[in-house]
Amino acid sequence: MLRDRLLIMVNDQLAIDVLPYIPVRTGGLVLTGAAAPVRCREIRNARPETTVVMDQGSHTQQIATTDAPFGLKTNYGWRDLDLAGLNEILDGQRDNKASYAVTPTCFIPADQVGDASVLKAVIRQANHLRRGDTVVLLPCSWRWLRRSSLPDLAEQIRSCRHPVALIMQADGDPLERDQASEGLRQLCRSCPRLVLWRTDLAAFDAMAHGALGAAVGASAVLRHGVAPRPDSGGGGHKPFPVVLVRRLLRYHRVATLQDWFAHVDPWTCDCAVCAGAALTRFTDSDADVLRALLHTVCELYSLHEELDATLPGDDRIGWWRQQLTDAREYHRLLSSQTDTEVSFPKVLQAWRRWSPPALPTRGKHRTQDHSGPS
Ligand SMILES: [Zn+2]
Repeated sequence: MLRDRLLIMVNDQLAIDVLPYIPVRTGGLVLTGAAAPVRCREIRNARPETTVVMDQGSHTQQIATTDAPFGLKTNYGWRDLDLAGLNEILDGQRDNKASYAVTPTCFIPADQVGDASVLKAVIRQANHLRRGDTVVLLPCSWRWLRRSSLPDLAEQIRSCRHPVALIMQADGDPLERDQASEGLRQLCRSCPRLVLWRTDLAAFDAMAHGALGAAVGASAVLRHGVAPRPDSGGGGHKPFPVVLVRRLLRYHRVATLQDWFAHVDPWTCDCAVCAGAALTRFTDSDADVLRALLHTVCELYSLHEELDATLPGDDRIGWWRQQLTDAREYHRLLSSQTDTEVSFPKVLQAWRRWSPPALPTRGKHRTQDHSGPS
């Protein structure tokens, strides 16, 4: 249910619109928002073959402690979860027909000088769960990907009895931070049951390097982790259209494309939503913002279909490197076509570098039991 599957992470309000564009065999939805349980049940009743799970977002609201690594916001306030409480919440997700359960893990800040106690508390308590239908969510600061912390993170993920879904948190793109993209590759090579969660095109770099699967966010805020803000009331700013430009392997605001293509023919798209129309056509209307999202979902699955056709290992890495080489050429082409300087982004540059090897295993591990929905 996890292997090579690309999920789209989307707010409950948009789930029904996105649903027709989700391939049953290779795709699925991660629902966020207050109505996620209701929506999950509706979708699974109507399309039982579609993979649907939920992320209850505890990591956006509370910092984990060694005493309370799991918790949930309820109608009666915040609730810390002991093992019985955690089981109850996971059962609740399954009762609402989630394809598998996802732990409501609180946010795991950067370690304090080699102290991985909070991270260890998450894994320790999760390892007490006697169930084979659960993925353990690890919403971590990007700082865990630095060389000094990475061995601890890898060791904890490897010692988990369940598959692990990693969220990387940063202000902005976590992979623009020092050592982060290299660290994530090493982690994917070192941990065979790792899923990358709440991410962007890093999903493809991770899956090329051995991640089991990934969940890509439908909106910018769902494309990386955010630090907990207990009183966050929601932005209320007007949404603007953003599209994945597949040739560039990059999300761009449509306004940026309109600037680039002000005096030359704009690039078009052949996806099911665009049907040959220009990528510059989306306006700020709600309908166009949604259509831009649907275009992006189609392009993600088109890219994923190619990845899925490769063999894991060198074949898949070779395919991904070719995508990156093509993207660099398209950046050059765009610059010359539009007579503007379109720089090749830092993250794509980092992905073009050779990959680091897997981390060495520290000491002897207990034999893992391979329970869980892999
Ligand atoms: Zn399109």
